[in-house]
Amino acid sequence: MNAYVAQVIDNVSKKNANEPEFVQTVKEVFSSISPVVDKHPEYEKADILNRMVTPERTFTFRVVWTDDEGKVHTNTGYRCQFNGAIGPYKGGLRFQPNVNLSIIKFLGFEQTFKNSLTGLPIGGGKGGADFDPAGKSDAEIMRFCQSYMSALYRYIGPDIDVPAGDMGVGGREIGYLFGQYRRLKGNFENGVLTGKGLSYGGSLIRPEATGFGAIYYLNEVLKHENDSIVGKRIGVSGYGNVAWGIMKKAAELGAKVTYMAGPDGYVHDEEGITSEEKLNYILEMRKNDPMHCEPYADKFGCEFVPNEKFWGIKDVDIYMPAATQNDVDIESAKKINESGVKYYIEVANMPTTNEALDLLRANKNIIVAPSKAVNAGGVGVSALEMSQNSERLSWSKEEVDKELHRMMVNIHDASAKAAEEYGLGYDLVAGGNIAGFLKVATAMLEQGIF
Ligand code: GLU
Repeated sequence: MNAYVAQVIDNVSKKNANEPEFVQTVKEVFSSISPVVDKHPEYEKADILNRMVTPERTFTFRVVWTDDEGKVHTNTGYRCQFNGAIGPYKGGLRFQPNVNLSIIKFLGFEQTFKNSLTGLPIGGGKGGADFDPAGKSDAEIMRFCQSYMSALYRYIGPDIDVPAGDMGVGGREIGYLFGQYRRLKGNFENGVLTGKGLSYGGSLIRPEATGFGAIYYLNEVLKHENDSIVGKRIGVSGYGNVAWGIMKKAAELGAKVTYMAGPDGYVHDEEGITSEEKLNYILEMRKNDPMHCEPYADKFGCEFVPNEKFWGIKDVDIYMPAATQNDVDIESAKKINESGVKYYIEVANMPTTNEALDLLRANKNIIVAPSKAVNAGGVGVSALEMSQNSERLSWSKEEVDKELHRMMVNIHDASAKAAEEYGLGYDLVAGGNIAGFLKVATAMLEQGIF
C-alpha cells in the first residue's frame, strides 16, 4: 500500500479509536485509492487525505421535548458537515437510539464519495439524533422535530447544508422539520430540505428513488455479465422504504424478491413479493410496527424463520443487503461464498464488515457492488429536488425517472472505467471509491489549502 495512505489510515485508527464505524469506512475507502495516490504525488503534497478524514465542521446540540404525559426528555442532536468541496453539504438525518458521533461520521464520510458519484454538485454531510421514534405519538414526533430544527436552523440553508431523511426520518418528519424552519426564518426556502411532500416542493419518485436506482444499477451489472434481470430471484434484507422500492421495480422489470428480512427473522415467499396487494400490505405493516415482518408470512401463508438471517440460501440469484450497517459479518460472508449465488449488491450504507467484504471480493465467482454507488440514486434525486426548487417548478414523473436511470448507468460505467484504468478489472468496489474520490480531490486541490 502507498506509504502516505497507510500513514493516514494509521493516524485515523489511533486518533479515532473510539469511533469504530468511522475508522472502518476510512479503511474501506482509502484501501482502494492507493494506486491513485501513487500516480498523483500532489495529493500528499497538499495533504489531501488528512484533510478528507477531518470534517469541515461537526457539532452536537441539545434537543429537549415534552411527551404526551408532560414528561420532559433530553436528547443529543448531531450534524456533521463533512466536505463541501463540490457543493452544499448534503445528506440525511437519522433518528435512532444508537446514533453517536462514530455513526454520523461514517455516514458523512461515505456520503461525500456517494454524492460525488452522482455527478451532481452536492457535498457530503449527515446528522441525526439518539432519539427513538418507535412507539411515539404523532404529536410527540412533531414536538421532537420542532425542537430539533430550532437548534439546527441557523446552520443550514439551500446553499449551505441540505438535510433529508434516513432511518427514522421520512416524509412526516421532513414536513415537521420544514414547517419549523419556515416558521423560524419567516420565508419559504424549500430547497433547505429534500424528501418533502409534493404539496410544498417535493419531487416525484423521491420516496422510491433509492430502491429504483439500486435495480437500475443491478441491471447494468447483469448486462455487463451478458445476463438478464428477467426471471431473477432476489433476497433482500430489510423491508423499509429502500427495500420496498427494490421489490416494486424488480417486479416491474420481470424479476421478483422472494426473501425479505426484518429484526424478527425472515420471510420466504416463493411466489415473489410482486403484487400490488403485497406491496401495499408491507407499507401498512411497517406503519403499525416497524420491528416485525412475521405478519406478512401469516397473511400470505408463506414460510417465516424467526431470529435468523437468510445469508447462505441457495434459491436466489442475487443478494441485496438493504437493512443497516454491518448486517453481513464474516460468518455470513462464508455462507454467502458457499451458496454459489453470483451477485452481491450492497444497498444499505456499509452493510458488510470490512473482513466480510474482503472475503467476498476475494471470491472471483461473486460480483460485489458497493452501496455508495448502488444507493446513490436516493441522494441523486434529492439533488434533482433541489434543482426543481430553485427553478420553482416540478418535473414530471417520467423526467425524474429518466434522469435517475441515466445517473445510475453513468455511476456504473464510471466505476467500471475507473477500475479498468487502474488495471483492476471489473472491480466495482475499487472503481466506485476511485471515481468518487477523484472529483472531490480535484475540487479540493483547485480551491487551495484550507
Ligand atoms: N440518507 C440517504 C442517503 O444515505 C439520502 C440522503 C439525501 O437524500 O440527502 O443517501
